[in-house]
Amino acid sequence: MIKQTKSTCCYCGVGCGVIIHSENDKIIDVKGDPQHPANFGRLCTKGSTLHLSAKLDNRVLYPELRTNRDLPRKRATWDESLDLAVEKFARTIETHGPDSVAFYLSGQLLTEDYYVFNKLAKGLIGTNNVDTNSRLCMSSAVAGYKVTLGADAPPACYEDIDHTECLLIAGSNTAFAHPIIYRRIEAAKEKNPNLKIVVVDPRQTDTAKAADLHLAILPGTDVALFNGMLHVMLWEGMLDHAYIEAYTNGFAELKETVREYTPKMVADICGIKEADIITAAKWFGKGPSLSMYCMGLNQSIHGTEKNAALINLHLATGQIGKPGAGPFSLTGQPNAMGGREVGGMATLLSGHRDLANAEHRAEVAKLWGVESVPEAPGKSAIEMFDAVKEGSIKAIWIACTNPAHSMPDLNSVLEALDTAEFVVVQDAFNNTETGQYADVLLPASTWGEKEGSVTNSERRITRVNPAVAIPAEARHDWEIVVDFAQRLERRLAKNSALFPYTTTEQIFNEHRETTRGRDLDITGLSYALLNEQGPQQWPFKEGDVTGKARLYADGVFQKPDGKAQFVNAVYKGTADKTDARYPLHLLTGRLRDQWHGMSRTGNVAQLFNHAEEPVIQMSADDMMRRSIKNGDIVRVSNKRGSLVLPAQLSDEVKPSQTFIPMHWGSQSMHGLGVNALMPPNYDKTSKQPELKHTAIKLEKLELP
Ligand code: SF4
Repeated sequence: MIKQTKSTCCYCGVGCGVIIHSENDKIIDVKGDPQHPANFGRLCTKGSTLHLSAKLDNRVLYPELRTNRDLPRKRATWDESLDLAVEKFARTIETHGPDSVAFYLSGQLLTEDYYVFNKLAKGLIGTNNVDTNSRLCMSSAVAGYKVTLGADAPPACYEDIDHTECLLIAGSNTAFAHPIIYRRIEAAKEKNPNLKIVVVDPRQTDTAKAADLHLAILPGTDVALFNGMLHVMLWEGMLDHAYIEAYTNGFAELKETVREYTPKMVADICGIKEADIITAAKWFGKGPSLSMYCMGLNQSIHGTEKNAALINLHLATGQIGKPGAGPFSLTGQPNAMGGREVGGMATLLSGHRDLANAEHRAEVAKLWGVESVPEAPGKSAIEMFDAVKEGSIKAIWIACTNPAHSMPDLNSVLEALDTAEFVVVQDAFNNTETGQYADVLLPASTWGEKEGSVTNSERRITRVNPAVAIPAEARHDWEIVVDFAQRLERRLAKNSALFPYTTTEQIFNEHRETTRGRDLDITGLSYALLNEQGPQQWPFKEGDVTGKARLYADGVFQKPDGKAQFVNAVYKGTADKTDARYPLHLLTGRLRDQWHGMSRTGNVAQLFNHAEEPVIQMSADDMMRRSIKNGDIVRVSNKRGSLVLPAQLSDEVKPSQTFIPMHWGSQSMHGLGVNALMPPNYDKTSKQPELKHTAIKLEKLELP
């Protein structure tokens, strides 16, 4: 008999509901959940082929370990593997202190997995060295919200797409990266032909092609554009001065700054027409205006300022907290939001608390029943692998992510993994580059097997449910952490019992308590309510009967005086600049049918119909100048590395710009992958690296 299990798609932050069909403990099909408010039954190509990815041939099925790096790993028991990990971590902590170990996690983990990892590091071991691949994805959006609105809380919701009159999409190829949101945008445009869609992107992506206005700005010039739009709206009398006066601080300084950003100056900086800047500003100023943004703003050394400069537009026009209006960051990963809720980053604590805040540390210590939470800041992603390379972090635990593919300046990261004294990798898949570096490899469960919860881009929490049993000796991520933590408590002779959990529900309930009185208060939620009434948005306080679709309708922000803060952002440019040696811009991005490093999508043959192999897209102008034809093999290089791959003529990139998708890594024919070329420079506030842009040179290879 076919069993149907409601769960969530494990790819992107749209967070679509799925119904998994299984028979005889095998996943045989997947359908969209018609009742899920994120997708109402729709699925994109990735989501609708999830069942085809549920295979065993690329899974880690048994624990493996090695005690000598010169020898291959061998199959081991769970006891042998966890005891070795406990001994190595305990000895390292005893000899070098708690900050000599680190945990690197993933936005693919469920909220409950994240919670126990965070408690293990910050509560039991006493280190804040917990960071995640969400640092590469969303941390500038987090910082942008916090500096302006005071809390990491997207104010808008998907339904706002149906109410807006101006949709500003910045740094997001929504049609490829968040396809089900894009379907909703298409439907809104069909229903309301007056809806103006403005896309800000250096490339003419599928999203940009369908826009009413495409602002093809030069890479990294977003702040100049947003300041220029504010300049026009100020000049045209389109600002809401009553709103600015009542609900914000800092406008006077910003006003002085944006006076300089005339359409003429901005057009020169951004490489677009003055008239287009004016048109975009007028459409936005009229409103209601919704902005959606993603990696193009976040993955930048000025990511926080780019986010803030966009949010400035909303605050200056009062376009926030109303139907169809507000800044709305699109979450990349399925549970980047849930990870932030439990404080699963080096700078955060449970319940959206800040590590730097002594009161917040004391609150979390009390909730966990530990003496204190350490004050010293943890290492963020780039800092963490740098510390591994230089030897101050000696043991690292990597869960459900592939930093040997996804980090910038990959040669440096590989050196770090080589240098580390002890590496634990906990993963469901055996095809990641990072897995090769594991001294202990632990088999984890994955989509279709896991239980817990995730939060999507619009703050909506959905249950994740198992349709089939976990294969072979794999275990759930949270169970692995709890088992390790209990063993470590005994080994370190800690008289504590911080990890008494036998179910994910117990973990969820403890997490829920940490949110009491906070902006994301979910004390009114339970597994039972989520199961019976379906996915819910936070906040959802005890006694509430529904969550909140929109935030800040009352104009009260999460700042000490309740007022939002304008940020005086100024345009500064990219980390790497083109020059005579490296004359071309290289942009990176996602393809429609692939996900991350392809550990899952690479297993589904039909997902290669859209793009079979990695290519570098070039303009006709650049190809002609270099006598390169479609399909010619070229070497792309800069000071950090090189790749060899075919060239492809594309009308999506402007002259002097090129594009390579980020999915292919060292398993492909062309080298380590495009991230090897990316600079390790990061935003000083969000610590998010600039993974979208570098400068390169390119030469045609004459093959025999
Ligand atoms: Fe999955 Fe995202 Fe596609 Fe929805 S849009 S089906 S969450 S990949």
